[in-house]
Amino acid sequence: MERRGTLLVLSGPSGSGKGTILKEYTDKHGEVYVSVSATTRDPREGERYGVSYYYMTDEEFKAKIEEGGFLEYAYFCDHYYGTPRKQVEERLAEGVDVVLEIDVQGAFSVRENCPEAVLVFTAPPSYEVLKERLINRGTESRDVIKKRLAMAVEEMKEAHKYDYIIINDEIEAAAKQLESVFAAEKCKADNNEDFINEFLEGVHDNDVIS
Ligand code: 5GP
Repeated sequence: MERRGTLLVLSGPSGSGKGTILKEYTDKHGEVYVSVSATTRDPREGERYGVSYYYMTDEEFKAKIEEGGFLEYAYFCDHYYGTPRKQVEERLAEGVDVVLEIDVQGAFSVRENCPEAVLVFTAPPSYEVLKERLINRGTESRDVIKKRLAMAVEEMKEAHKYDYIIINDEIEAAAKQLESVFAAEKCKADNNEDFINEFLEGVHDNDVIS
């Protein structure tokens, strides 16, 4: 029987480096599927349709909500963000590991709909480092940075509800920790019930051992 893939949700404040950790991880693990979300925000410089996000109007996004096309969606800093359902479900059924890089609200709604999902929170080492990273990134206005910092504080208050926390001090070490989380999940007894059953089916009462 095909083993289902692991559904791993990666959240963390804007500037916690979750995208960079994920890129470091996927550079070594090309087999994992990183879901591409839909959003109503404008593309940032260098972002590409279908690679970074599927950019949509509010109307298109709401129509997709109505169709049940999202596994989860959330309203974050004045824009909608959502995970397209179909691709994720297909990959998991094929046994492929799937990563969703989504916000805290989205993570908890995934946990409700898919209790087997593993929730991983990436945190910056400190508030000061986070502030510096957001300012140095230079992709947002001061007003947006202020809003995102306030949001970061709210998100940090939810971090204790996650299954794992990765403190992103150094990218390579953080990516290794993500690798360890995947490895730990594969070893969980709950995720090996099929193996245990197959083993027991292979046991014969009348075996003769010489
Ligand atoms: P950004 O605008 O910086 O790309 O993303 C803002 C926030 O939205 C980030 O925390 C990001 O993880 C989150 N996000 C991106 N895609 C999704 C999604 O499909 N669903 C939810 N709930 N959050 C998302």
